[in-house]
Amino acid sequence: MITVIKNAQVMSPKFLGNKDVLLIDSTIAAIEDNIVIQSDAVAIEVIEATGKILVPGFIDSLVHVTGGGGEGGFTTRTPALNLSDATTAGITTLVAALGTDAVTRSLPDLLAKVKALNEEGLTAYCYTGSYHIPVTTLTGSVTQDIMLVSEMIGVGEVAIADHRSSQPTVNELAKVAAEARVGGMLSGKSGIVSIHCGDGPSQLKLLEQVVAQTDIPITQFYPTHINRNQSLLDAGVGFAKAGGFIDLTTSTTAHALAHGEIKCAQALTYLIKQQVPLSNITFSSDGHASLPDFDQHGRLQQLLVGEEKSLFAEVRDAVLEQNLALADALSVITCNPASVLGLNHKGRIEVGFDADVVLLSGPELEIDSVWAKGKKMVETGNALIKGRFE
Ligand code: ZN
Repeated sequence: MITVIKNAQVMSPKFLGNKDVLLIDSTIAAIEDNIVIQSDAVAIEVIEATGKILVPGFIDSLVHVTGGGGEGGFTTRTPALNLSDATTAGITTLVAALGTDAVTRSLPDLLAKVKALNEEGLTAYCYTGSYHIPVTTLTGSVTQDIMLVSEMIGVGEVAIADHRSSQPTVNELAKVAAEARVGGMLSGKSGIVSIHCGDGPSQLKLLEQVVAQTDIPITQFYPTHINRNQSLLDAGVGFAKAGGFIDLTTSTTAHALAHGEIKCAQALTYLIKQQVPLSNITFSSDGHASLPDFDQHGRLQQLLVGEEKSLFAEVRDAVLEQNLALADALSVITCNPASVLGLNHKGRIEVGFDADVVLLSGPELEIDSVWAKGKKMVETGNALIKGRFE
């Protein structure tokens, strides 16, 4: 499988110039001014990409691939992701998670879906555990899961500051983080602890207490939904300036935005103005999660489903509406999550890295073509390869 993409504006995400990019099997083999390969023995696909922008495949660090939700009863359980939901959104790498429901949703089911997505051409990982402590595991412990199951790279999303959380104590959360940390160290993975932040008044205090009272470094935690409201976003500023990673959720609803949630594109601009290091900021879609709107008594009002395509839509808005540099905006869905998640061959256009590539076209930065591990998944915005039951 050899592909030459000719004369694209290559962004690593930093701008590298107009280049040809050579993909051999699942790897980026060369980035040069002019690549000419002729062979009668193997098929070579040559793509003319003049005027198009070539960027790394997007990394989505939180997707509920088997569906989530259920907070309004069984009819409100959200459906599972299809392969093309991710690929047409430019997503070539994702991390799957359970959520509130770890009873009817299970880790074996999550892992099976992750394995299926890998077989279909994506790069998919998952977290062990769910919202709750004690943590649900596959093998009996978080450390074992991360060490022995290749797809499991961390734990989460563990819920804090939320009426749906298990109301964990400092000690309980510290123990889970310690298990994940050791499991990650012993298996060469990040062992990251994905944290679901609700809108409770304690915000990130539990994480700050674990960091203050134990030897767990702040970088072990990866709190998400930080753009849920201005007050939590400001708590996130402090957390990131202290060295922590913060993740913003791109899926949202008109109701949530009207009730204080901050659109990701705007939140990113705000964080940069507050001098938060860009490398500590990521976006994730929370795709296929339920997006419930609760009233002030915690009663469910309405429920929508998170969408993977929101991930790049917010990056695009950050560029087109907030005037951020494309390289900076791209970093929150490419090199930054790769670094947080410990994915050493992902998130950059660089020789030797995985051939996960997105071509963008036109002034509106439309997703034109997508390659995942060197395989073309999307062409002119349409899925070439679909999941088995799509
Ligand atoms: Zn969540």
